[in-house]
Amino acid sequence: MSKPLNVLFLSSEVDPFAKTGGLADVSSALPQAIKELGHEIRIMMPRYRFISERRYKLHDIIRLKEIPVPVGKITEQGNVKSSFISNLKEKVQVYFLDNANYFGRDGIYQSPVGRKDYKDNDERFIFFCRGVLETLRRLGWQPDIIHCNDWQTGLVPAYLKTVFNQDSFLKPIKTVFTIHNMAYQGAFPADTFQKSGLPKDLFRVDGAEAYGKFNFLKTGLFFADSITTVSRRYAEEIATSEEFGAGLTGLLAKRKKDLHGILNGIDYNVWNPASDDLIYRKYDAKSLDAKLDNKRALVTKFNLAFNETTPVIGAISRLVDQKGFDIVLEALDELLKLNVQFILLGDGDKATEKQFDAMQKKYPQHMGVFFGFDKELAHLIEAGSDMFIMPSKYEPCGLNQMYSMRYGTVPIVRATGGLDDTVEDYVGSGKGTGFKFEKYDPKELLKAVQRALKVFQQPEEWKKIMRNGMSKDFSWEHSAKQYVNLYKELLK
Ligand code: ADP
Repeated sequence: MSKPLNVLFLSSEVDPFAKTGGLADVSSALPQAIKELGHEIRIMMPRYRFISERRYKLHDIIRLKEIPVPVGKITEQGNVKSSFISNLKEKVQVYFLDNANYFGRDGIYQSPVGRKDYKDNDERFIFFCRGVLETLRRLGWQPDIIHCNDWQTGLVPAYLKTVFNQDSFLKPIKTVFTIHNMAYQGAFPADTFQKSGLPKDLFRVDGAEAYGKFNFLKTGLFFADSITTVSRRYAEEIATSEEFGAGLTGLLAKRKKDLHGILNGIDYNVWNPASDDLIYRKYDAKSLDAKLDNKRALVTKFNLAFNETTPVIGAISRLVDQKGFDIVLEALDELLKLNVQFILLGDGDKATEKQFDAMQKKYPQHMGVFFGFDKELAHLIEAGSDMFIMPSKYEPCGLNQMYSMRYGTVPIVRATGGLDDTVEDYVGSGKGTGFKFEKYDPKELLKAVQRALKVFQQPEEWKKIMRNGMSKDFSWEHSAKQYVNLYKELLK
C-alpha cells in the first residue's frame, strides 16, 4: 500500500456523542471505514455539555489547555478533551473542542425547549472553525487533509487560504468539503462577518457573501479544494437546478469539475438485523419468519392488533418540510382505508405532530405515533415494518431507505437524490428493491403504496423484493475508497 494518509474529519454531530440526523451516522461510520483502509483519521467536534464525561471516558489533553481563539474583539479559551469511537477493530480518536460559554448547553443548534436556533450560532461555529486550526498548531499532528462537513465547518477552508496561508504547519493542508444538505447554510447578517477575523475584502460575492449575508456554507464551497455530496443524483440536482441548489447553484455549476457525488453507506455494526441488540428478535434473509416477531412486538407497543397479512408501513423522520410529510397527511385518509397499519416516529415541527396526532385519534386501530427522538424505537420500526415510506421533496442521500432494505422492509420512496440512486423500482418478476414515484403529489404516493400492497398479497414475490434489498451491499468500504482516492488526487 502507498503511504498512509493523515486525515482530520470535522463535524458538528458524531454518533454516539451527538445526533440530530444522518450527519451523525456518517461522521461516525465513514472515519471508521477510512481507518480500516489503513489511514490515520481523527475526528474533531464541539464538546456539548450533554456529552457525558464518565460514559465516554473523556480525558483532558493537558497540552491543549487554554487555547486562545479570537472571536471578534474578544479572545475565547478552548480546551481539548479526547475519547474514542470503538465499534470496530480499529478505534478512531475523537477530539472535543470545549468552551463552556459556547457549548455548555443542552442542545446542539437550538434550545430543546422552544426549538429556537441559538442566537450566537455564528460565534459558536466561528469559534469551532478557528479553534480547530489553533488546536492543530499546538497538537503537532499534521493532517494531509481536513475533511469538512456542512456549514458548521465552512470557514475552515477560508482560514487556511487567508489567515493561515503563511503558516508553514497549516499551509500544506488540503480541504474536502462534504455537503450533507444544501438547505442548511448558516447564513448570518452581514455585520457578523467581522467576528470571523477573515480579511475584510472576503465579504464579496466571490468569497463569503451570498445575497447580502455572511454564508458559512458558501464560504466552504468557495474555498475548499474539493467538494463532495452524498449521492450522484443530488450532485447533479444541486449544480443544475435552483430548486435544489438553494441559491448556490451558480457557484456549484462553476465548480462542477471539483464536485463529486459519493454515496453514503450504512454501518453494519449498528444497522444489521442479524446482530441488532435493539430489536425484539434477530433475523436474516434465511430466517424471515423471525422478522414477524418484531412486527408483533412493534404493533403491540402501539396497541394495534397483530395480523400477519395486514401490512405495517413505518416512517422515521425529522418532521421538517424537506421530508414530505405534508403529502403523507394529504394522502392519509385514503391510505388508512386500505387495510394497513401506519406507524410514525417523528421529531420536529409541532404543527405537523398535532396533525398526525389528530389522525391517530381518528384511526386508532390503524395508526400509531410517537413524537421525539428514540433510537431504540427506530431500530424496532425498521425491523418490524413491512414497508417504509420516504416521500421526500429532496433527499441528499437518505439513510433510512438503506436501513430498511437491510432489514427486509421494502421502501416506498420519491425518486429524488439518494433515494433514486439507492432504490430500484419493482418491475415485476421478482425484480427490484422497492417502489418509487416521481411527482411530489399525494396521489402519486398513494399509487406507489397501492402498487406495493398488490405485490404484498403475493408472499413469494414479496419475499423476493425483501431479499433483493437485504442482499444489497451498502457497506461503507466502497465509498471510503472513493474518498481516499479523492484525498490522493488532491495531494498529487
Ligand atoms: P436526515 O439526515 O435528513 O435526518 P437521513 O435519512 O440521512 O435523514 O438520516 C436520519 C437518521 O436519523 C437515521 O439514522 C434515522 O434513524 C434517524 N432519525 C430520524 N428521526 C428520528 C427519530 N425521531 N428518532 C430516532 N431516530 C431518528
